[in-house]
Amino acid sequence: MDEYLKAAQIIKTSKKTIAFTGAGISVESGIPTFRGVDGLWSKYDPKILDIDYFLQNPKKSWEKIKEIFYDYMQNVKPNFAHFFLAKLEKEKLLDAVITQNIDNLHQEAGSKNVIEFHGTAKKLICMNCYKTYESDSIDLTELPPICPKCLGLLKPNFVFFKEPIPKKALESSLELAQNCECMIVIGTTGEIMPASEIPKIAKLNGAKIIEINIEKSNYTHTITDIFLQNRATIASKELKNALRIQNENSNSNFK
Ligand code: ZN
Repeated sequence: MDEYLKAAQIIKTSKKTIAFTGAGISVESGIPTFRGVDGLWSKYDPKILDIDYFLQNPKKSWEKIKEIFYDYMQNVKPNFAHFFLAKLEKEKLLDAVITQNIDNLHQEAGSKNVIEFHGTAKKLICMNCYKTYESDSIDLTELPPICPKCLGLLKPNFVFFKEPIPKKALESSLELAQNCECMIVIGTTGEIMPASEIPKIAKLNGAKIIEINIEKSNYTHTITDIFLQNRATIASKELKNALRIQNENSNSNFK
């Protein structure tokens, strides 16, 4: 049987399916990856996202952070793969998305149950009073931005180097991984700890692993049951056909 049909069969019979996504799902939306030859770290010094450096040099860090995460990424849009996952949830074929991305594209595509393992760029958090703000409600012309309430330093509400994973996101992810029957891994090669452990935990608890990646990953020969080697958007289209999900005329982004 065709690998996509096999994957569709697993998704249809699974009582609880979780998607686990990484940078690879957002590449086709135009979001650059951090690693690799063309990655952001070839142009920027990773220390701008080191929590100690950030706290000591907030203005310097923020100038680069604004360039990378706010001037550019605010204009990107979800792609077919994001819409596909939102549609799966609506069709009750998917229970949640655990994402390592901070770009908010799953929510923009319509996914409701999204666990942001590394937090989100969509919000800023005050390092003094811990109040959070929508990032687009804060003026970034004067850097660093400060808390309107207490004048404390604002930081993007995603995980910086040396910061722990948000407790609630970690607990929810572990719970979902332990209890799902199928995990669809998309656009992540399993190199970033501890996020990379999530699919392994699912596998250990008996879940079937469907992997969508362009290249083979750390998962492919260890825990993956079905490997769909393709770009996220192409694989999503194939999988959608295999699942025989109908188009909705109202959503022109999802054809
Ligand atoms: Zn504050």
